Amino acid sequence: MAYLTFDDGPTKVATPIILDILKEENVLATFFVIGSHVEEFPDIVKRAYEEGHFIANHSYSHQNTKLYQSKTSFLNEIQKTDEAIAKALGLPSYSSHLFRFPNGSHTSDYAVAKKNAKLYLKEIGYYYVDWNALNNDSMQKYSSSELLQNLKNSCKGKHTLVILMHDTIDVSKSYTALQESIQFLKQEGYSFATFSSFFSDNSSF
Ligand SMILES: [Zn+2]
Repeated sequence: MAYLTFDDGPTKVATPIILDILKEENVLATFFVIGSHVEEFPDIVKRAYEEGHFIANHSYSHQNTKLYQSKTSFLNEIQKTDEAIAKALGLPSYSSHLFRFPNGSHTSDYAVAKKNAKLYLKEIGYYYVDWNALNNDSMQKYSSSELLQNLKNSCKGKHTLVILMHDTIDVSKSYTALQESIQFLKQEGYSFATFSSFFSDNSSF
């Protein structure tokens, strides 16, 4: 099984291109959105949702200094993002029950704050998920063939893949390698799922 995940969007250019490719390849993904970006581009989030993708929470500001200021500020970041998603989707309320920590849940920076934040998530019925495969699109500027090769290297020998990519154009443009990456994964025999189906299956994570 392969879970494609896109962090840090929505963004004006990258997200719609990614949605077009996912549609063409008939594959669903999970988008870990930033609340402030949702407010900026609500129509893009609505489109992703309506096309069957799962919208999950990646904080409101993506700024560790704000996120980990206090318990209240952490929970506010989650709540404000959920509210922004609900508004974008035209729903009375929304909760994905799924958070991804900016930069992942295990880092030497903010280690204690993140440990506490995991307890706060539990209190509000939230889970969190990191990744076990990536194309390194946020590390440096890679060409599309390098991004594909990075992904291939990182997938080796793994049965279940949670693949980290970004729907941004800040560093590398993952969308330039997305179609070939999906075709590679299909050839390797992976099926695609979002974390919404994971929650309803209640399987082994
Ligand atoms: Zn991020």
